[in-house]
Amino acid sequence: KGKGKKLAKSATKAVKMNAVLGAGIMGGGIAYQSAVKGLPVVMKDINQPALDLGLSEAAKILNKGMQLGKVTPEKMAKTLNAITPSLEYSAIKDVDLVIEAVVENPKVKSIVLKETEQHVDDDTILCSNTSTISINQLAESLEKPERFCGMHFFNPVHRMPLVEIIRGEKTSDDTIAAVVATTLQMGKTPIVVNDCPGFLVNRVLFPYFAGFSKLVLDGADFVAVDKVMEKQFGWPMGPAYLLDVVGMDTADHAASVMADGIPERMAKVENDPVTLLFKEERLGQKNAKGFYNFS
Ligand code: NAD
Repeated sequence: KGKGKKLAKSATKAVKMNAVLGAGIMGGGIAYQSAVKGLPVVMKDINQPALDLGLSEAAKILNKGMQLGKVTPEKMAKTLNAITPSLEYSAIKDVDLVIEAVVENPKVKSIVLKETEQHVDDDTILCSNTSTISINQLAESLEKPERFCGMHFFNPVHRMPLVEIIRGEKTSDDTIAAVVATTLQMGKTPIVVNDCPGFLVNRVLFPYFAGFSKLVLDGADFVAVDKVMEKQFGWPMGPAYLLDVVGMDTADHAASVMADGIPERMAKVENDPVTLLFKEERLGQKNAKGFYNFS
């Protein structure tokens, strides 16, 4: 954190207003986090129901806080007022930093980043919340790749402290310093990493998932594994439960990206139960059935 503060102080650009593109699970959470920490934010999506959902998610978190006596009605109103929903790019023209959080599809992201560049000032910083797509690859769609980097939040955004800031080959030091400063302003802990498959967190997490899958294939009971990891090892949740939170679709895709990028270390597990569940459309919490049933 000390290093982060030092780096943040070197930032030449002050970020006073954010924009988030995509009002889904992550975009909605990022908008809430920005607003609650006093950084006004434009939340842009391509359809109104998504914007409504993003706002209602923020309201839900604030309501919970009110019930616990941690949030006043004034704070709730102030936070919600700091989020400006919009369907138009024109709404982002004065922002200092844009966080792209649209669907995890390189073609869609490249188009969105390209379009964004046409609607903001030359010194506006652009970030992507991608979990698996190379920052260098996304940078190719931009005229000014030096003002672009990854800004990877974790789900649920309001509870997870870490933000991975991913430096692309062309990212400038100034961009990194400003994004570190903004991360701190948003009450999160930044770590700066280089662009590589899985960045840092997934590169550490996925070998653990692979080990778990191999245990299950050897006949281990996944509930028993979860209990050991939670009760004896002290992790907040075991691997099966965590996979249900992450989602089998996301986990299967991320494992493939890492297997392609670092085959000697992250080879895909043959007959991986995660892939089998994904094919059976048991995606985890998002559709109420994965390793566990949630209904
Ligand atoms: P999501 O499907 O919940 O939301 C995506 C949103 O993007 C939708 O509301 C959709 O309408 C919108 N969208 C699509 N095209 C758009 C466009 N052209 N302009 C504006 N909005 C557009 O997805 P999510 O889970 O929030 O994931 C978003 C990003 O965050 C992905 O890159 C994902 O890899 C990353 N991420 C997800 C998680 C997670 O656990 N869900 C965690 C970390 C990072």
